[in-house]
Amino acid sequence: MTRYSPNLHLDGTGGVLDVTTTLIRELLRCLLIVTVALACDEVRAAGKGITDTLASPHARLHAVDIGAVRWTDGFWADRFEVCRTAMIPNMWDLLKDPEISGAYDNFLVAAGRKEGRHRGPKWHDGDFYKWLEAAAFVYATTRDEKLDRQMDQIIETIGKAQRDDGYIHTPVIIDQRQQRSGADEFQNRLDFETYNMGHLMTCACVHYRATGKTNLLRIAEKAAGFLCTTFERSPQSLANNGICPSHYMGLVELYRTVADSRYLELAKGLIDARNLVEERTDHNQDRIPFREQSQAVGHAVRANYLYAGAADVYAETGDQSLLDALERIWSDVAYRKMYVTGATGALYDGASPDGSKAHSSIQLVHQAYGRPYQLPNITAYNESCATIGFALWNWRMLAITGEARFADLLELGLYNGVLATISLDGKRFFYTNPLARVDKLPFSLRWSRRREPYIGCFCCPPNSVRTVAEVSAYAYGVSDAGIWFNLYGSSILDTTVGDGEAVRLIQQTDYPWQGMIHISLEKVPEREFSLFLRIPGWSETARVTINGEVFADSLQSGQYFEIRRLWSAQDRIELVMPMSVQLLEAHPLVEEVRNQAAVRRGPLVYCLESIDLSDDVGVMDVAISPDAKFRTRFTEELLAGVTVLESKASVLSRNGWDKALYRRISPQGMKTTEIRMIPYYAWSNRGDSEMAVWIPLRYTLQGSRLPRR
Ligand SMILES: [Zn+2]
Repeated sequence: MTRYSPNLHLDGTGGVLDVTTTLIRELLRCLLIVTVALACDEVRAAGKGITDTLASPHARLHAVDIGAVRWTDGFWADRFEVCRTAMIPNMWDLLKDPEISGAYDNFLVAAGRKEGRHRGPKWHDGDFYKWLEAAAFVYATTRDEKLDRQMDQIIETIGKAQRDDGYIHTPVIIDQRQQRSGADEFQNRLDFETYNMGHLMTCACVHYRATGKTNLLRIAEKAAGFLCTTFERSPQSLANNGICPSHYMGLVELYRTVADSRYLELAKGLIDARNLVEERTDHNQDRIPFREQSQAVGHAVRANYLYAGAADVYAETGDQSLLDALERIWSDVAYRKMYVTGATGALYDGASPDGSKAHSSIQLVHQAYGRPYQLPNITAYNESCATIGFALWNWRMLAITGEARFADLLELGLYNGVLATISLDGKRFFYTNPLARVDKLPFSLRWSRRREPYIGCFCCPPNSVRTVAEVSAYAYGVSDAGIWFNLYGSSILDTTVGDGEAVRLIQQTDYPWQGMIHISLEKVPEREFSLFLRIPGWSETARVTINGEVFADSLQSGQYFEIRRLWSAQDRIELVMPMSVQLLEAHPLVEEVRNQAAVRRGPLVYCLESIDLSDDVGVMDVAISPDAKFRTRFTEELLAGVTVLESKASVLSRNGWDKALYRRISPQGMKTTEIRMIPYYAWSNRGDSEMAVWIPLRYTLQGSRLPRR
C-alpha cells in the first residue's frame, strides 16, 4: 500500500535546470500527487465529528464537525477558556517534567532519545494520549500554530517509540530496548496495553479530524494492525487483556475514519471473545457473557468503557442483542445506581456476586458499582473517569436512538459530575467525588479528600481536561431531518444539512443560570428542515416562540421538540424554560438519604459548604423544610460567577455525642439560620470545607398529638 511520505521534498533551490531535471521534477510531482491522492483515499472523506457516525447504519443522529461550534460567551466559553489557557499548558508542564510524571519521558526513552527506566503507572501512555486529544481538540478551535508544531514534535517521538510491528506500550518497549528478561507483551492484564492503544486510536482520530494530518493516524493504524494480527494468532491472549476496554471505542472510531473493516471485525470479535477469558470476574464484567448481562457490575470505569464500546459496535452492526443488554444495564444504572450528580461507581470496595449462597464465588471488587440503591455520600468513590465513561456511553446511546433521556444524563454528568472533578483554575483534580465531606472523619480514605495538582494514578485529570475541551462536540447533533440541540450555551454553529447545504445559527443564552435560549438563523437552505430542541427532564413549563409569536407552550419535558418548516435567514426562535428551585428526594431504598432532599435548579445540583454557614453551624446540623423558599442571586465575584440559592433553615444540635452512638431524642428549640447554597461543581474551591448535597428535611407535623381518650 502506498504511504504518504512527509520527507519527500520537491522544490529544488536554484541551479540551472536542463530538460532532464525538469522532466524528473515533473515525474516526481506527478508521483507526489498520486501518492497524496492514494493516502487521502485511504482516509474516508466523511464527517469530522468527535464520533463519526455519518455512515453508521444504526445511528440516528451524528456529531457536528470538530470546530463547527464556537462558544461565544457565558458558561462554556469561560470553561473552554480556562481549558485553553490553564488546563492544557499546565498539564503539559506536569506530563513533560520527569521529576513529576515521566509520561512524556517514557516515550523519549522508548524512542531511544533518552536514558532511563519507565516511570509512573503502566497506563501512563493512555493518560498522555488523553491530554494530546484535548490539545488537538482545542487546536481545532484556536488554530494555534505553536500548539500544532508542539503536537507534531510529540507525535514524531511517539512514532519513534513504536515497534516496527505496530506494538506500542512504553513499559514493555523500554524493557525490550534495554534487553531486560521477561519483557514480553500481554504478560499481565493489569499492564493495560490495549487500554493504552485504545486511547491512542481515539486521540489519533480526533487529531486527524482537527488538523487534517495523518501522522498520528498512521501510528494508530499500525497499532490496530498489530492487535488484529495478535487476535488472529491468539484470541485468548487479547481477550484476557481486554480490561478497561477503551480500544473497543478506539477501534470502531478508527474503522469509521479509514474504512478498514478489520478494525470493526476486531472490535466485534473482542466482545465475543470475552467468553474466552480464563479468569472471569464481575470486576471486569466478564463473569457471564456480555449479551446476557442486565446489571452494571464491577469496576465502574471498566464497565462504562465497555458499555460505550459495545454501543459503538451496535451503531455499525445493528446487533440487537448488544442493544438489548445495553438498555437493561443502562436502566440499572439510571434508575438504581447513579448519584443525583450523574456520577457512578459508588463503592471503594464491594463484593460480587453479592448475596451469593456460595461463599467461594464471592469476589472482591474495587471502585465498584454497588448494589441497587447503595449510594453512600461521604465515602462515595465515583472515580472521575467513571463519570466521564458514563457520559461517553450516554452520548453513544443518544446517537443511536435520538432519545432525550440519554442527553439528559449527558448534561447532568457534564455540569455536575465532570466539572466537579477540576478546580475552577483548571489545575487541581479530584480522583474520587464524594457527595458529602466532614472534617472529623474517624478513618482515612485511600484517596485525598481535596483536589490535588498531581495524582500518582493520573488517569482522571487528563480525562477531565479532554472532556471539558470537547463539550462543544456534544452540544449539537445533525441528522437527515435537521439539527439537534443537545446542550445549551452561547455559541455559533456552522454546519450542513441534507446534501451539504450550509446552515449557520447563533445561540445566545445565560444557561445554566437562566432558561432563556435565543436562536438566530443566519444561513439556511431553501427547503424544509427541522430543529430539534431538547426539553430537559427538569423543565416544567417550556414554551417556544418564533419571530415573537408563541408557537407552542406547555412542552413535554424529557424529549426533543421538533419544529419542521421552511426557515428563512431572519428567523428568530426563543425557547423559554423557567427555572425554579426544586427539592429532590431519593427512592426510599437509598438508605443514606432517607428524609433528606437534594436541591436542583435547572441542570445544576447544589450543595452546602460550611464556609457559607455561621461559625457555630456545621453542614450536618442544617435541616430544611420541604416547602422551603429559595432566593436566587447571581454573584459575579463568587466562584468565577455563580447563581447562589439562599434560604432559611433549622439548626439541629450537634453537641453531646462523646461516647454515645445513640441517645434519646430531646426536644430542641427551633433555632434558625440563613443558608447559602452553591453549585456542586464549584465546591472545594475556597480551602477545605465541609460539604453536603443531601440535607435533612424537617417537617412540621400538624395534629401529631394523640387524641385524648
Ligand atoms: Zn481515572
